[in-house]
Amino acid sequence: MKRINKTLLSNITILYVEDEKMISEEVSFYFKKYVKDFFIANNGEEGLKLFKEIQPDILITDIQMPKMNGLDMIKEIGVTSVPIIITTAYSDIEYFLKAIELKICKFVIKPINLIELILDVQSCVSNNYLQDKLFEKENLLKIVDENVLISITDKEGTIIDVSSAFCEFTQYKKDELIGENHRLLRHEETPDSFYENMWNIISVGKTFNTEIRNKKKDGTVYWANLTITPVFKNEEIINYTAVRSDITNKKKLEQLIIEDDLTKLYNRRHFNNILNQEIRRAKRENSTITLVSIDIDHFKKYNDTYGHPMGDKVLYTIGKVLKENTLRSSDYAFRIGGEEFCLIFSNSTITDSCLHVEDIIKEIEDLKIEHKNSKNSDFVTVSAGIIVQNASDIVNEETLYKHSDIALYQAKVKGRNQAVLSEYSK
Ligand code: GH3
Ligand code: MG
Ligand code: MG
Repeated sequence: MKRINKTLLSNITILYVEDEKMISEEVSFYFKKYVKDFFIANNGEEGLKLFKEIQPDILITDIQMPKMNGLDMIKEIGVTSVPIIITTAYSDIEYFLKAIELKICKFVIKPINLIELILDVQSCVSNNYLQDKLFEKENLLKIVDENVLISITDKEGTIIDVSSAFCEFTQYKKDELIGENHRLLRHEETPDSFYENMWNIISVGKTFNTEIRNKKKDGTVYWANLTITPVFKNEEIINYTAVRSDITNKKKLEQLIIEDDLTKLYNRRHFNNILNQEIRRAKRENSTITLVSIDIDHFKKYNDTYGHPMGDKVLYTIGKVLKENTLRSSDYAFRIGGEEFCLIFSNSTITDSCLHVEDIIKEIEDLKIEHKNSKNSDFVTVSAGIIVQNASDIVNEETLYKHSDIALYQAKVKGRNQAVLSEYSK
């Protein structure tokens, strides 16, 4: 037994063409409880006019009517996707046969059974209605496919589907991605721990959101804001949907703000932020901070001898050494001015800090960058001042920096190419 679908009916507009007032009023009274709009025309002529005006979702019409009969009206209407129901009496049999040629959705025999009629209306409009909905959905899916960077992976991280937009963005064809592990797009600097953390979260059914660096097919690096959502079936994870937006430009801007142009180390602005942040962290964790000031020896002479562009190369090369020696997540390297650099180590003892800095100084001398006018070596060298303090002893950033700078000055006085530990270290 079919049921009345109130939601479906509440969306439709009906045009009812019937010359017998008693019948049309009875039908109208019943239908108005369910449908959005119900219009009545008294004959074919009126019906035709109203049909054009209101564009109903369905037309119900009697056959025999004055002025213009139902069949002529339908012929006048011509080709239409609006379903038509004809109400007919057995005496209309001749018309009825003619009506079969017309594309009529349903014939309802008079006297009208209201419930049957409404169920007929329902089944006639539902096809159109569903098609509309389906069209909307297909359209929506198309828009998503073309514009949203989506990939779907199975529980092991193997890609099982991707949107066209994702293919275009990553430069891969669909079949180059499907069946591959998501690692294909991995950036070499993303640590294993990042993925471990991600799997820990998504494998227990939680959503994971992060900013991530990935690589396109040609090696171009991009940044994405990534959200991975587990998809469940019968309370079990069946796969993961990853949606991302490209934030490469935002990241580039952020980078510009904190990075030194020449050496690609952090700049002075970021130094102030990080030093402040690390001191606060050390105070919370009651750990130590090491601040190292580094300055190139006789660098003015180097520029004078080899030219400024060669000097820039030295700055870059030394920057690279410093970067390579501060890979721990709690270590940082900065270029804070012309030929001055700073390092920050968190939670490192005096001994470890000094050994580490001495290694760096040695490594720089071992680069054997010729510097024939240096007074302390045949090669480019650096001097360093170190201060290591317990968080509780740190007065503020300025004092800490002042002490490392004084120690640096002492290293210069003592003959350069060496490190001096600040007397305030403990
Ligand atoms: P010291 O051993 O006492 O540190 O002597 P120094 O000559 O290195 O020190 P000084 O402070 O007198 O000179 C620093 C020089 O660094 C001056 C400047 O030409 C050079 N310098 C600063 N910034 C840059 C830069 O961006 N590029 C280049 N090539 N040189 C720079
Ligand atoms: Mg200097
Ligand atoms: Mg110098």
